[in-house]
Amino acid sequence: MDHFELIDGVLHAEGVSLETIAAQVGTPVYVYSTATIERHAQIFREALAPTGDPLIAFAVKANPNRAVLATLAGQGYGADVVSAGELLRARAAGIPADRIVFSGVGKTADEMRLALNEGIFQFNVESEPEAEMLSAVACELGKIAPIAFRINPDVIAGTHAKISTGGKENKFGVAYDRALDAYRLAASLPGLRVQGVAVHIGSQLTNLDPLRAAFGKVGALIADLRAAGHELQTADLGGGLGVPYDPAVPVPPSPAAYGAMVVEATQGWNVRLMFEPGRLIVANAGVLLSRVIRVKQGAANAFVIVDAAMNDLLRPSLYDAWHDIRAVRPTGEGMTATVVGPVCETGDTFATNRAMPEFAADELMVFATAGAYGATMASTYNSRALTPEVLVKGDQWAVVRARQPIETLIAADSLPDWLD
Ligand SMILES: *Cc1c(COP(=O)(O)O)cnc(C)c1O
Repeated sequence: MDHFELIDGVLHAEGVSLETIAAQVGTPVYVYSTATIERHAQIFREALAPTGDPLIAFAVKANPNRAVLATLAGQGYGADVVSAGELLRARAAGIPADRIVFSGVGKTADEMRLALNEGIFQFNVESEPEAEMLSAVACELGKIAPIAFRINPDVIAGTHAKISTGGKENKFGVAYDRALDAYRLAASLPGLRVQGVAVHIGSQLTNLDPLRAAFGKVGALIADLRAAGHELQTADLGGGLGVPYDPAVPVPPSPAAYGAMVVEATQGWNVRLMFEPGRLIVANAGVLLSRVIRVKQGAANAFVIVDAAMNDLLRPSLYDAWHDIRAVRPTGEGMTATVVGPVCETGDTFATNRAMPEFAADELMVFATAGAYGATMASTYNSRALTPEVLVKGDQWAVVRARQPIETLIAADSLPDWLD
């Protein structure tokens, strides 16, 4: 459910016409709906309310815009961060340090220092060498780092290979069989306080079974760890719940179904649960708004060439992802065409031979479900400036990231003496 609807024949984000935004900000531009973000945040929280008072930490990598993070801070959400940059953004958006979790396989000593000085809630540690480094850094600062080990449960997540993280061949987490040894090591390190267990098996999961299997393994491990004398207060169950992209594909399990599964899987754990949803909260709250440059007939296909490209929205090219295509002012007529951007790569294709609304030059097109892993993955490939972002709230709207001037992009390079 989202708040992008036709009003008097024109697609709106809540009360704001996308034609207005395109006219004033230009295209391409990402447009986010506050009401949709808040609704998803509330639905997820309500689905998990029966588990007590969980810490819900938004996965910042899904959409790190400071205005989006501040909207979620207003919902009581914390942040799951994977770099110093994400940690600083979360703090700048008003997310308290004691609601921040630090994930990732490659935390550096500098990043650990920053997070310890901020006083974050938990480090999700992904290896024994990382535990040793974190303990050393904490000792140097005279602090104690609260940790969970991220366990690799070796389950097949059933999603795209590039976003599966819980198989034993993946780089993530401590191998399940090594977990007891890792906890024994951590308990012996002076700079650490072991407080929990964490797991995250992948993204865009459309079936609850792999999650249930992973949580079952976490439950068994909690019992083993307690039997071995470790005190555990938290269990972080990660993110990963999928969202609907393609209307022709069955919808993923609802947050309510996920919540019911969690309640059942975590019976008797006696911990504070933590969650790290990203995509579920923001994907359907954002669209990429683009203008058709021209329509061209190829040898085999009709091409609709738009002013957005793979540098603005990488998902189709990276994951073969489907984004629904909508007209901002639909005529009721349809066409079948391949939708491409201006970038000089065949990978710069948003949809191939797609049956969709009819488009002509200068008309506005929307790529739906682009609020997660959209703007955040944008690059300046082909010397295209970073895509601007707009946040709508009711009848109000604001540019929350301005279009980057090309001059800024060019000025970022400098010439060495011998060329100047
Ligand atoms: C990416 C990621 C998430 C969020 O995944 P979604 O599929 O967007 O919910 C949560 N936790 C960790 C550790 C991640 O890497």
